[in-house]
Amino acid sequence: MSKIIAIANQKGGVGKTTTSVNLGAGMATMGKRVLLVDIDPQGNTTSGVGVNKADVANCIYDILINEVNPQDAILHTQIEGLHIVPATIQLAGAEIELVSTISRELKLKKALNTVKNNYDYIIIDCPPSLGILTINSLTAADSVIIPIQCEYYALEGLSQLLNTVRLVQKNLNPHLSIEGVLLTMLDARTNLGIQVIEEVKKYFQEKVYRTIIPRNVRLSEAPSHGQSIITYDSRSKGAEVYLELAKEVISYE
Ligand code: ADP
Ligand code: MG
Repeated sequence: MSKIIAIANQKGGVGKTTTSVNLGAGMATMGKRVLLVDIDPQGNTTSGVGVNKADVANCIYDILINEVNPQDAILHTQIEGLHIVPATIQLAGAEIELVSTISRELKLKKALNTVKNNYDYIIIDCPPSLGILTINSLTAADSVIIPIQCEYYALEGLSQLLNTVRLVQKNLNPHLSIEGVLLTMLDARTNLGIQVIEEVKKYFQEKVYRTIIPRNVRLSEAPSHGQSIITYDSRSKGAEVYLELAKEVISYE
């Protein structure tokens, strides 16, 4: 059985892309067949696994707008079992172009249905907004992982996200659930981090992953080398925690 997980939070810089790439890489390292779907026009997941956007023939835009077969957009990465549907800046136009199309919220779901059975996990890296691209992702997904940065105002804006999840459940995808809440970029030297952990746990309770992602310089360096943390520095703390997270997510199968 395959599972489609959207990584969503309309706040930018909370670790969505870092989590998509490294959770995907971790799962693939554990022998799972994983497809990353980059649906953020910034395309950071795409470059983060070493794909040169200038060389991309078909991207997620072509799937959503030009009805290109997803199979013709999927690329392999350096990690065996880790594939990607890339995004390029072309996708920036999709929000507007989708407005006038029929069943615009279902485009991604329909496309992923055709390749779903080839993978154990499909991980969708959402853009930092609650627009039509994120709606498409939540409609296609079985569940959503919400990364939350261990910072001041960590919970700010989450009610909008949860509202959107409820709206999608009610109107488009009754089956959508919250897979888990992931605390990211913890600075263990400050009390603030501990306070945020407590606050988030009070709010989301057992939905919060045991694995907490600390700040780790290697995690921020890896993307500029077009690599996941697993290939960039397998002995780093970053690699250790994302493998731990992969194990934890897989255990909830
Ligand atoms: P989002 O996709 O939510 O916008 P990113 O995953 O791109 O967030 O992360 C924002 C920035 O923070 C990036 O430069 C990334 O490399 C860095 N970053 C993410 N997680 C960590 C971490 N655990 N430790 C250090 N830097 C991180
Ligand atoms: Mg991102």
